[in-house]
Amino acid sequence: MKMISSERIYLDHNATTPVDREVLEAMLPWFSEKFGNAASRTHLSGRLAAEAVENSRSYIADFIGASSSEIVFTSGSTESVNLAIKGAASAYCKKGNHIITWQTEHKAVLDTCGRLELSGFDVTYLPVNREGLPDLTELENAITPKTILISMMMVNNETGVIMTVKEAAEIAHANGSLFFTDATQAAGKLRIDVNELGADLLCISAHKMYGPKGTGILYVRRKNPRVHLDPLIDGGGHENGIRSGTLNVPGIIGMQKAAEVCIRRYWDDSSMISKLRTLLEQILTDDGFGYINGSVRNRIYNTTNICFPGIRASELMTRLPEIEFSSGSACSSALPAPSHVLTAMGLTEEQAYSSVRFSLGRMNSMEAVLEAGSKIKTTIENLRTS
Ligand SMILES: *Cc1c(COP(=O)(O)O)cnc(C)c1O
Repeated sequence: MKMISSERIYLDHNATTPVDREVLEAMLPWFSEKFGNAASRTHLSGRLAAEAVENSRSYIADFIGASSSEIVFTSGSTESVNLAIKGAASAYCKKGNHIITWQTEHKAVLDTCGRLELSGFDVTYLPVNREGLPDLTELENAITPKTILISMMMVNNETGVIMTVKEAAEIAHANGSLFFTDATQAAGKLRIDVNELGADLLCISAHKMYGPKGTGILYVRRKNPRVHLDPLIDGGGHENGIRSGTLNVPGIIGMQKAAEVCIRRYWDDSSMISKLRTLLEQILTDDGFGYINGSVRNRIYNTTNICFPGIRASELMTRLPEIEFSSGSACSSALPAPSHVLTAMGLTEEQAYSSVRFSLGRMNSMEAVLEAGSKIKTTIENLRTS
């Protein structure tokens, strides 16, 4: 029987990516024949798993310019963010109780900081300008001797804006605080080097780079300075006691393979996907049809966030179920709030509700993007005149 609906076009790669075929194939044996627990050192099955995990650890460390001993495997970036911020807050609370971050961070960071505020920590949420970029003199002014941690994402998930991480890290270090960056949207697209960036803590997640869901890492600097974290999860003392729990061996193998594929495709992905984004933006922004939110200059190549005055993103989505993208609001609740990222950039609630995020990826073809662009344009024209 033939499906009536036309084929879906997926333009939401910042939410998650499909698992690359090569990644899936690399993972499969580790579910069945090679099922060992990497913590079981008394037999071959366990040792084989441990060896594979250490191999992946070393590869992923290299991927971000770190050493193996600085990589902690987690269930993904939400957990890594919690471990970085809560773990540092707890370990350094004798030194101070102040944390600085930005209003446009991912909810994983904002909600974690919010939780710490309930237990006596003081958090400064710095603003951004209309382009979504920070003003680093405001960071300098906000730092106090009690500032233990500064947290700035590398690439914003809603707008694709690339933040000034290296400069912020320098300011952090000049004032004796640690620097954490959520690099989830950068990994696989931008080359990451923890030393070049000056990151003391950094997280990435496999499922945002064509790997499996449920696996990520936290990088924890071992020297200059050696960073201490109190664990969130206690148990068998895995991962140097920082994160107990049986390791997700297939996930870890998949994350390594995903990194390999990204390295191989850095150039192809960026040149192809940026062309597709340009094409989509031409269709949707020409003659003031829509306008781009966020810095056009400092932006990752796959993301575009466009405001279409006079329409609601939610209505556009309802009319175009076959095209998958996300709106400028958190749809997780019954009454969606306008995007905290866009409102922090100075958009009105109305403008935020009229904004749409498209995030392109490896599987998108020119034909698909052209088809999506023209359907979206027609639908918006109809919504505006209805
Ligand atoms: C997706 C995302 C996260 C959360 O990562 P998970 O691995 O899904 O928990 C955190 N920060 C940013 C910027 C993200 O895009």
